[in-house]
Amino acid sequence: MNRFTFFNTLKREVEEFHPREEGKVGIYTCGPTVYHFAHIGNIRTYIMQDALIKSLEYAGYEVKRVMNITDVGHLSSDADTGEDKMVAGAKRENKTVMEIAKFYTDAFFKDFDAVGNKRPDVIEPATNCISEFIHMVEVLLEKGYAYVAGGNVYFDTSKLEDYYVFSSSVEKEALEVGVRDDVEEDVNKKNKTDFVLWFTKSKFEDQALKWESPWGVGYPGWHIECSCISMKHLGEYIDIHCGGVDNIFPHHTNEIAQSEAYLGHEWCKYWFHSNHLNDQSGKMSKSKGAILTVSVLQEKGYDPLVYRLFCLQSHYRKPLVFSYENLDNAAASYNKLVKRVSEFKKDGEVDEKVKADYEAKFLDAISNDLNTAMAITILYDALKADTNDATKLALVESFDRVLSLDLTGHANALAYAAPGVDAELEAYIQEAIARRAEAKKAKDFATADAIRDELLSKGIVIKDTREGVVWSRA
Ligand SMILES: [Zn+2]
Repeated sequence: MNRFTFFNTLKREVEEFHPREEGKVGIYTCGPTVYHFAHIGNIRTYIMQDALIKSLEYAGYEVKRVMNITDVGHLSSDADTGEDKMVAGAKRENKTVMEIAKFYTDAFFKDFDAVGNKRPDVIEPATNCISEFIHMVEVLLEKGYAYVAGGNVYFDTSKLEDYYVFSSSVEKEALEVGVRDDVEEDVNKKNKTDFVLWFTKSKFEDQALKWESPWGVGYPGWHIECSCISMKHLGEYIDIHCGGVDNIFPHHTNEIAQSEAYLGHEWCKYWFHSNHLNDQSGKMSKSKGAILTVSVLQEKGYDPLVYRLFCLQSHYRKPLVFSYENLDNAAASYNKLVKRVSEFKKDGEVDEKVKADYEAKFLDAISNDLNTAMAITILYDALKADTNDATKLALVESFDRVLSLDLTGHANALAYAAPGVDAELEAYIQEAIARRAEAKKAKDFATADAIRDELLSKGIVIKDTREGVVWSRA
């Protein structure tokens, strides 16, 4: 296996990755809280995670990825204070909490898919796992890591030797001051850093979703979700835990506290965090008026994959500045790439030696702290390489296993839309594609193959893509 490295937030350095089981990787991703749209900064995080996962697969690992959907229990401050996000969303839109969850889950995945991301193997809404949350809270109480106060169950952070696991000693002091100065104080907490595992008494008497528990009717804290859902599907150990840098404190810090207290051993060795997307006025957030989403970009005429290219051109650990000018530059690059690929002829033999050389360079880039910008430079180099078109096309397809820019699909569409295709030929091809679809539907694969060959004999290649059948000249 090739050497694979990325920045491990837990160690505060770029580290070589070694999963617990040779060749296999269990990854957990914190999913969205589905009370509002995911803005393009949130989607940047998921694009970089997708690049990480596909890079691991390119390097030969078998990856299983689990993600939660927070549809209960996330208060507007990550430190258990403020309003309940789901209830606030329901009130704002005059809908039930479950209607809000359904609507924004669908909206999230529409944008998640549009930018070329592969869906996680397991996607689990928090409301599916209430009995697992209760069980974990019971065990934490039995083990003495939790206490009941004022009707709520809290995690007792003073029971841990090192609570601020992600922080250097300087950062710890700053965090302690920050926590002390937190505006809203919960008098039930023994320590300022303690956090809620289960709410029964809160100021949200109108909480819509409530469940029976040994401590009374209530609902789970936010952090407990990720610990339980990861253990439910990945067992007692995970190899990589992903999120945005916002999640490091308190969310991931609390996840580690309760998971390791519950398990009695180390839980996850590698933590992968991607940085913020900023606009000219600062960090992108949902509180600053209209939410800029991938769907909004699409309405403005941008291909979602242009946004993906824009993200991949920058390193995941650096803040990225969004502006329409920057996005236009990415669009120009994307269109040039598509045009270049559309000009390649599809005949000739792939030069396996050249292909392997470029694939090795590409793998080096993505294995070196996920250097996606370098990976794209290698794509440009491959397009200019002193080799035939068949080899270049094979490389574009190979790199697209990670980049997911669908350059060949878009190139074929471009060839289709190009002037010079006469109407009669076009009608004939479309009719043949329709006949082939009918044959496939009737499981008559011999006829379907015959139609493909018939087209090929006229110099037309057809290809099945996610967007449907596309054709190009052979
Ligand atoms: Zn989480």
